[in-house]
Amino acid sequence: MITKQIKSAIRDIPDFPKPGIIFKDITPILKYPVLCTNIIGAFVEQLKGTQIDIIAGIESRGFLFGLMLATKLGIPFVPIRKAGKLPFTIKQKAYKLEYGTAIIECHTDAFEPGQRVLIHDDLLATGGTVTAASELIAEMGGIIAGFSFVVELGFLKGRERIAPISDTLVILAQ
Ligand code: AMP
Repeated sequence: MITKQIKSAIRDIPDFPKPGIIFKDITPILKYPVLCTNIIGAFVEQLKGTQIDIIAGIESRGFLFGLMLATKLGIPFVPIRKAGKLPFTIKQKAYKLEYGTAIIECHTDAFEPGQRVLIHDDLLATGGTVTAASELIAEMGGIIAGFSFVVELGFLKGRERIAPISDTLVILAQ
């Protein structure tokens, strides 16, 4: 039911941001507060039994449901951002893209050693971004409690890539 609602709210934009990519635009979901509430409810339900101390959201669409979920669970939220956006002292991780490299960063005081961290993003594609985020968090002493995504692009096999990092994976729509 929720999967169907998510899929019908997401808008496919062909050739954005470059030719050949079909961009999954999740922003129309945000116009439906009941659907947003139900998405958070589905995450809470499917994460029952997983100990989570803090949620790390990936810039920028990972902030949307990541923060809503953290607030619902009554736990902290921290942003993981692209290079040059965070104002305090930072720790960073470079990772490979199809062409070139990207850098993600978090504040040096984002995580406490031993904290169990749920990594959240809107969409799982190749899994490269959340793998880099996992490495960054692990280097800061955090433990990866699991991953959550609103939607995945299954043909890119991100699931297989992140499976060795944590068994806990919640994806609401394919
Ligand atoms: P990846 O590292 O390949 O798993 O890419 C995931 C990140 O890129 C997420 O932050 C997504 O928001 C974004 N992303 C990748 N491909 C798409 C797509 N086709 N539509 C929307 N967002 C995408």
